[in-house]
Amino acid sequence: MDFQGTIRKSVTAEGVGLHSGRPSRITLSPAPADSGIVFRATDPHRTLIPARQETVVDSSFATTIGVNGARVRTVEHLMAAAAALGIDNLLVEVEGEEIPAMDGSARPFVSLLYAAGKATLGVPRHPLVITDPIRVGDDARWLQILPADEFRVSYTLDVNHPAVGIQALSFTCTERVFVDELASARTYGFLKDVGTLRRNGLAKGGSLDNAVVVGRRAVLNSSLRYRDEFVRHKILDLIGDLALLGRPVLGHIVARNAGHALNHELVAAISEFFSDNGHAGVTARPALSHRATPVPLPGIAAL
Ligand SMILES: [Zn+2]
Repeated sequence: MDFQGTIRKSVTAEGVGLHSGRPSRITLSPAPADSGIVFRATDPHRTLIPARQETVVDSSFATTIGVNGARVRTVEHLMAAAAALGIDNLLVEVEGEEIPAMDGSARPFVSLLYAAGKATLGVPRHPLVITDPIRVGDDARWLQILPADEFRVSYTLDVNHPAVGIQALSFTCTERVFVDELASARTYGFLKDVGTLRRNGLAKGGSLDNAVVVGRRAVLNSSLRYRDEFVRHKILDLIGDLALLGRPVLGHIVARNAGHALNHELVAAISEFFSDNGHAGVTARPALSHRATPVPLPGIAAL
């Protein structure tokens, strides 16, 4: 039997938001079984925002969740770390409007969760078992999930740029694989897009300290953490967005050039499949209001 987890004690991290450019602080605290991951926003009402597909209010360049006008931006890297480490239940109090970018990867959140320690709760986890293929996207960019007896991701990133090119990887996404192979992969963006992004209120906190920046021909950072860091970050983002289902998934995702908006389409399609088939625990159609800002180009992860 596989049991739900939370953390043992409260922990805090602070930094600057990738998109807002403003300082923020998060405090993670233990939460009871079946409560899921819940954010508490900064607004005067200290609104509680469950990290669920139904609360996604924006998916352009990052995942933003909100309730009644209160919002928390860029939750995906923290969500990915929690999901990979088996932390199903967590209270995340946010001072600021965005989760801190830290170094642009999920590694600092993995360290934070390990510092908090894991507590196993006496309530079983109920994975969503994929029984039929589900596909979203078009011929150029797609996500498909297929039946499998483990959670696996096979991702192809194909970007017509000499610093990126075609990168393909396939992982069974265990905690060990996430920590060793995916958590350290950083957000990336293209220098040519920075002006447009900033005019749209995005990437204001982005720098070489928290993102891989791709110039006209090469990466501007001194080095990459992995030769194929870009596709690894795409898988990290996908794991974080999929965590908005609120339950682990048993299935094999095959992906090409997806992004947050498409990730959420898959999450919505999976939710719809399970609600149509009378399964408990996942509710129906989302109210996505994405694409208020420029539609991400293939290969742009979060910037
Ligand atoms: Zn990301």
